[in-house]
Amino acid sequence: MAVTQLYNFNAGPAVLPRPVLEQAQAELLDLPGVGLSVMEISHRSADFEAIIGKARDGIRQLYNLGDDFEVLFLQGGASLQFEMAPLNLLHEGDKAQYLVTGSWGQKAFAAAQSVQRWNGAEIDLAFSDEDAGFTRVPDSNEYEIDSAARYVHFTSNETIHGVQWQSEPQTGKVLLVADVSSDMLSREIDVSKYGMIYGGAQKNLGPSGVTVVLIRRDFLYPKNGLPKMLDYHTHVSKESLYNTPNTFGIYIISLVCDWLKDQGSLNGIAKINAAKAKLLYDAIDASGGFYYGHAQKESRSVMNVPFRLKDGELEKRFIAEAAAADFVGIKGHRDVGGLRASIYNALPLEAVEALVDFMTEFMRRCG
Ligand code: PMP
Repeated sequence: MAVTQLYNFNAGPAVLPRPVLEQAQAELLDLPGVGLSVMEISHRSADFEAIIGKARDGIRQLYNLGDDFEVLFLQGGASLQFEMAPLNLLHEGDKAQYLVTGSWGQKAFAAAQSVQRWNGAEIDLAFSDEDAGFTRVPDSNEYEIDSAARYVHFTSNETIHGVQWQSEPQTGKVLLVADVSSDMLSREIDVSKYGMIYGGAQKNLGPSGVTVVLIRRDFLYPKNGLPKMLDYHTHVSKESLYNTPNTFGIYIISLVCDWLKDQGSLNGIAKINAAKAKLLYDAIDASGGFYYGHAQKESRSVMNVPFRLKDGELEKRFIAEAAAADFVGIKGHRDVGGLRASIYNALPLEAVEALVDFMTEFMRRCG
């Protein structure tokens, strides 16, 4: 059965690699060697142990994680990690610093403040450019790191504002805690700088309902009586199987890791991602102001490209015509307005080429 392929620019849940979906479809009723659907088997079976092991190893290999890192598959989204991270990682008298470059970082900061009554920690807003509308990441001389801080939190890619750190914030010896929900496994990172890396799967890794948490064992405090489900120790000691995990989601992640290796692992996919982003930003820059981006050039995201047209009526027309031309998910987030093209790992180059052609033609007609 032929399925019309739409150009999927959704922000998340988002496009998945076609070969992964095809494999999942082929195996849906009968997982090879199992005879049942992956959704019909126990999370404690040897067959599922193999699947979760493969997903764990896939992430481990792609990020080049040492044995000191745990790889967890949890639920509750990145949103729960906004709370679990400070609950677990901060004690009374500890301090965490937050670098806020968009709405998600702001939510993470607010969540850390909201759990202060339980951990008695100090939560410091070390940088925010909210007043300027979240258009950039700061230079290192714009924030001051307290060398006694337990961690510095940042959002590697702000999905709504299209603002991405091009490299890690400079924090000296203070470990980073990063929300990488919208650029996870899209490029290599220096994991030695991180105490914890987390993100929802639903943009670059798989379906929604799985949160990947990478955490350095020696960064965890000893067990200190948190409610069990909220305690990283519980999930570490039970290898993400304390309660029933999202088995289907973890299965898809295992396939996406294979697919990423076929793309040349993180270096390979990063080159493809850079080429796609360049194509789109070049089109915006060459439009003489007909299209204009939200983020400042040095902070532009390779994953989410919010942009606007010079007048609101034209934006509405663009969105309607783009939808009619099979472009999905191109309407911008209400906080920024305009348009947003999310161009995650799995979005093919041809989709960006088609969008750029559409933009060029639209400008020719309406410019
Ligand atoms: N952080 C970022 C950067 C995000 O893009 C999102 C979701 N779009 C979240 C956190 C929240 O994730 P979740 O819905 O999985 O809790």
